[in-house]
Amino acid sequence: MFDANKIRQDFPMLQGKMMQGKPLIYFDNAATSFKPCIVIDAIKRYYENESVNAHRGDYDLSYETSMQYEKAREGVANFIGAQPDEIIFTSGTTASLNQIAYGLANSFLSSGDEVFVSYAEHASNLLPWFEQAKIHDLVLRFAPLTPEGSIDVIGLEKMISKRTKVFSFAHVSNVFGYVNDLKSIANLAQTRDIMLVVDGAQGAPHLPVNVQDLNCDFYAFSSHKMCGPTGIGVLYGKRNLLNQMAPLIWGGGMNSRFDSKGNIGLQETPFQFEAGTPHIAGAYGLLAAVQYLETIGMENIAAYERELRNYAVLRLKEKVPGIIIYNETADTGIITFNLSGIFAQDAATHFNSNGIALRAGLHCAKLSPQHLMTPATVRASLYFYNTFDEVDQFVEVAKRGGDFLDAFFQ
Ligand code: PMP
Repeated sequence: MFDANKIRQDFPMLQGKMMQGKPLIYFDNAATSFKPCIVIDAIKRYYENESVNAHRGDYDLSYETSMQYEKAREGVANFIGAQPDEIIFTSGTTASLNQIAYGLANSFLSSGDEVFVSYAEHASNLLPWFEQAKIHDLVLRFAPLTPEGSIDVIGLEKMISKRTKVFSFAHVSNVFGYVNDLKSIANLAQTRDIMLVVDGAQGAPHLPVNVQDLNCDFYAFSSHKMCGPTGIGVLYGKRNLLNQMAPLIWGGGMNSRFDSKGNIGLQETPFQFEAGTPHIAGAYGLLAAVQYLETIGMENIAAYERELRNYAVLRLKEKVPGIIIYNETADTGIITFNLSGIFAQDAATHFNSNGIALRAGLHCAKLSPQHLMTPATVRASLYFYNTFDEVDQFVEVAKRGGDFLDAFFQ
């Protein structure tokens, strides 16, 4: 039986932390998540007991640390239904997407080829493509969105041309919170030899993910948004594509040999993409995080978050006159809104002074306002350790938004 109150006991950040003299209500989980003790302990274990390099030492301790690092790769592979050699550790979603854009542009694409993104994408799934498009003369095209803000698959199909080579879309947009219909998008892609890249930063932490089922070619996500440490993330890629893709970062650990003329032999995948000393403590922590999430169950997490979000939307609409919710029917814990007549940033200040952490602005998706038709929004993003009681308090504070506005203009 899922019990958020019991789960909260696992998280030091949820033990009486205050903000502005009020008990903290943390609704900024799309930015990053809290870490349970089990993750913190795993990181401590590395630094206190096994603090040597991985894959570089000829002694027992280094062997043990290397084994644990590879165990983390296996754990992550298992978490998303992949094989361990299809899992590359990066510093996060942003690094993964940069590697993919660079690798595809350099190894697979030519001048005039088209890459589809959308107005709903995060900067990390746009800027790497903008950059590669400039260098390699690629054509960036924007997939149509449904009024809600997910990819309009029928509209997308109509836009595909013979030059379309890549779709690069979020699993879940960090502004709109809808789950994109990746299976239909993958079907479109597969029948036309188009590669499907998925920005899973808001997918993997909240939904069961199986890359075989989704049939995507690449899937990128960050550990820190799913109870794991910062500074480590994942790039999943189909083995045959990874084997043909140019690495972005060069150096120690990724080469098998080189000579003074610059002839370089590369390690096999995934090691050819992991130059330099990796974030070993991060891998320990990430393994603990995926095991923790698996114990709770990703189905349970997704179901609870949907329930909590539906409750929040219902209560906000019932109790907060004039509230505009931009994604009422979304499937995940992201609620994007504005309080009537209050600038988003001012609303966030009002919530802050009541101990509630949430985010205002463009949420790193600077093209999304073109779809929402509003310059800025407030975003509450929930996770499985948030409670109905916290939602009630949040709604009460939202209700008093007008009082804040009065105070502001006095
Ligand atoms: N994509 C999406 C949809 C995100 O929400 C984020 C984080 N806000 C990122 C990419 C980038 O993730 P990171 O900062 O962990 O690299």
